[in-house]
Amino acid sequence: MHHKSRRQFLTSSAALAAAPLLAGVAGNAIAQAPGRKLGVALCGLGSLSTNQIAPALFKTRNCRLAGIVTGTPSKAEEWKKKYNLPADSVYDYKTMNRMADNKDIDIVYVVTPNALHLEHALAAAAAGKHVFCEKPMEISVERCQQMIDAVKKAGKMLGVGYRCQFEPNHLECVRLAKEKVLGEVKIIDANFGFGMGDPTQWRLKRDLAGGGSLMDVGIYCLQTARMLTGEDPVWINAAEVKTDAVKFREVDETVLWQMKFPSGVVSNSVCTYNANGLAGFRAATTRGWFGLEPAYFYNGNRGRRSDNTEINIPVSDQFALELEDFADCIINKKPTRVSGEMGLADVKFLMAIYESIKKGRPVSLV
Ligand code: NAD
Repeated sequence: MHHKSRRQFLTSSAALAAAPLLAGVAGNAIAQAPGRKLGVALCGLGSLSTNQIAPALFKTRNCRLAGIVTGTPSKAEEWKKKYNLPADSVYDYKTMNRMADNKDIDIVYVVTPNALHLEHALAAAAAGKHVFCEKPMEISVERCQQMIDAVKKAGKMLGVGYRCQFEPNHLECVRLAKEKVLGEVKIIDANFGFGMGDPTQWRLKRDLAGGGSLMDVGIYCLQTARMLTGEDPVWINAAEVKTDAVKFREVDETVLWQMKFPSGVVSNSVCTYNANGLAGFRAATTRGWFGLEPAYFYNGNRGRRSDNTEINIPVSDQFALELEDFADCIINKKPTRVSGEMGLADVKFLMAIYESIKKGRPVSLV
């Protein structure tokens, strides 16, 4: 899928057409930041930065766009003009060290291809900035650990861009699970995918992506299972299906996997780069079920419960919510719920899924 069509897919669907249009950041109340807003520099001005994160920054109470890092001079000019950025807040990947002198920038939000996250996070930490890093955090556990160590050494905060951790409909489902509103959760079914277009993009290159649909969208299903159970998987069984061996020469196309959790909960997931229309989860409980469909879009996520209750909590912008929370954690010196340790743990479980595929048998994690 070309970036534009991926975006359209994530932002629109028949189901979304009926979703209410709402203004203002709703769902999560965040304390008003005392003093100035924290300055955020976006590192990597691709689709996500351009279409989601930059606009979201303007909806936050405690953040502002304060700088950019880009390797493309024409984008630097365009963004400088569009957002009225001072010339000395515009960097390329090689000059990020100069951010150390820029008091306007507090946070670097790393939005580059997966395997570049570490390099850019290290540069940001070395310049004395807090780091917010897109998912997946990196392409190996070792690289995640290096990121954690570097940001810790700099005395700064590290967060991972798990927007669903702030999406009120997801949080309502976590509440239903925790409070056993429909009984105990027993089985989780979570699936996400989209049809991949442009065969030349970095998402299909192992060196830059670290993997395919699993690293990119399967991670949402893994997060759902971990959020609903509040547990880490202890057993994983997985298989891969490839229908286009040329396009998906370097990375996985479709992955199917199951996980067992310590409480006995079982999850089942499919992620794919080969189909649209797969973006939901359902939790089967002792007395019924609940779930979201769609669950993973930028807008309009909503769902139902087996007692015929709708789950449809308004939210204007998940990226604004995650950024407000991160800034709030920095301002009030609180730990973030989307820590580097959480990002590392997810990468560890993704690697166990690949290990299971490779070995052709289940992998035990205890
Ligand atoms: P993109 O291809 O649109 O943008 C990537 C940016 O990185 C581009 O500006 C590109 O110029 C730059 N870049 C720097 N060095 C590069 C290199 N060597 N090769 C290729 N590009 C290079 O990608 P995107 O969709 O914006 O994704 C960026 C990150 O954000 C990824 O880690 C992705 O997983 C994540 N993401 C998260 C969400 C979410 O909902 N949280 C959604 C989309 C993407």
